[in-house]
Amino acid sequence: MKTSYYRWQAPGNGKIFDAPLGEASYMNTRTLSVLHFIQEKKRVSQAEFEREIKAYLEKNSEYENNNSTPAHFYRPLLFLGFIKMSESKLIELTLEGDKFLYFYEQKNYLKCKKYILNQLDNTKYPNIATKDIKLQLFPFRILFKILLQEGSRGVSKEFLKEQLVYIKESDELLHYAATKELSKIEVHTEYDKFYTWVVNSLVNIGILKTIQNYYFIADDIEEEVKRLYENLSYESLFFSDESLLCQLDGKTAHERYKRDARLISEAKRRDAYSCVISKEHKTFLSKGENYVEGHHVVPMFQQKNYSFELDDVRNIVSLCPTCHREMHSGDDKRDILLKVYSINEEYMKENSVTLNELEKMYFCIR
Ligand SMILES: [Zn+2]
Ligand SMILES: [Zn+2]
Repeated sequence: MKTSYYRWQAPGNGKIFDAPLGEASYMNTRTLSVLHFIQEKKRVSQAEFEREIKAYLEKNSEYENNNSTPAHFYRPLLFLGFIKMSESKLIELTLEGDKFLYFYEQKNYLKCKKYILNQLDNTKYPNIATKDIKLQLFPFRILFKILLQEGSRGVSKEFLKEQLVYIKESDELLHYAATKELSKIEVHTEYDKFYTWVVNSLVNIGILKTIQNYYFIADDIEEEVKRLYENLSYESLFFSDESLLCQLDGKTAHERYKRDARLISEAKRRDAYSCVISKEHKTFLSKGENYVEGHHVVPMFQQKNYSFELDDVRNIVSLCPTCHREMHSGDDKRDILLKVYSINEEYMKENSVTLNELEKMYFCIR
């Protein structure tokens, strides 16, 4: 077995971004143009993408035809989760890809940076954009956790190049956390694209900063990084069963965001202890009232994508256990979502959440 299967890989060829967001650098325009191409098409087959992308880039960016294969243009965006590809090889923008482009056009680059941060947070191995890889971990959660731990000491270039990308198991990190020594993480000195392309891309857009040969979290996102990673356990950085990822992310959201139990009680009282889908859904008495459960309509794990508060009584509805389960596990949630959306319409509109967006959020409900 080749060792490359056990190390973090970079997608495509070259950096995703190579300058601060907003600057019309070579890779920035290329990446933005690829996103625009997909947005214009709404949905594009892989074959059509591969046929048309080079001509589109030549017309709309500073791209000069070279030997890049067309897959190199979409893989980095797939890696970041700004686009997705279905089993039938249809490519389209994700909710986050849409939002990233929207804020880019508004020139709200700090917001764009946060979207990248969020997508890095979601990125895992194995990854559809990289070759068969025998790891089960969240590479950027590991990177940010280590950066936070090292704080003002920073993380050395050698570490990023020769050790970080060879991390395989939580053991290695637990040892590091306990001893502050990286001895359990093997040193390899092969050339590595993850460092040259991915890590340096993060420096170029200003998510990381360097002082001499040390890396730190950039000042303007430090607070956000703290919010995401400070309370995160080492278990949330690794997983053993992909089918349980939704649950793991639910746990991650619990570690990151406090929920106020009083808001749930308040919502139940407001709804007079009946299921908002239908008052007919009677269950049993609990503490003298019809038993219902509180549910956050915009799910809590989405908090990192929004600056408004999701733990808000106006975002909580009362549901009978059956409707609640359907909300989490049903195959077709359209009707039930439409109903709760209209109940909470004022809150949704106030925060510019569309029904379409809400549906996309429920793609993998935790
Ligand atoms: Zn729920
Ligand atoms: Zn119900």
